[in-house]
Amino acid sequence: MVNSRCIIAAPIKNTREQKQEQNMITGGCLCGRVKYVYDGDINEIAMCHCSQCRKAQGGPFATNSPITSQKIEFSGQHFIREYQSNDDKVRAFCSHCGSPLYSRLNSNPDIKRLRIGTVESPIQCTKRYHIFTASKADWDTISDDYPQHKER
Ligand SMILES: [Zn+2]
Ligand SMILES: [Zn+2]
Repeated sequence: MVNSRCIIAAPIKNTREQKQEQNMITGGCLCGRVKYVYDGDINEIAMCHCSQCRKAQGGPFATNSPITSQKIEFSGQHFIREYQSNDDKVRAFCSHCGSPLYSRLNSNPDIKRLRIGTVESPIQCTKRYHIFTASKADWDTISDDYPQHKER
């Protein structure tokens, strides 16, 4: 269950072109000025409870999925601001509405960590796990059975 591959739930279509379109994951920020199309799969969702993600998200945790940078295309790119949250890490958000979009490491430009709450396509991803539970908020109770890691 935990390791199964994630499937995109979408209606069945016939032509090859439609099939490609069906496999695209789309999403965007709250105001809609930034949109994206991802030509890949969401294979895992990390629920990160670290204090930085909590602040960046304004919630008990962030929901982050590693994606291939080359496979995502953004529109409204000039609205994207990147905040350097430490020497290596960049957190990107929409400068108009503030939606967090992704993070990335300068040392690993091939991977972005997409903020899954911004995805609009239906996704079913059973590989989920909690990280940095050692720094989770006092008021937050983890009440699911997904694996928990004290740090990474
Ligand atoms: Zn926006
Ligand atoms: Zn985090």
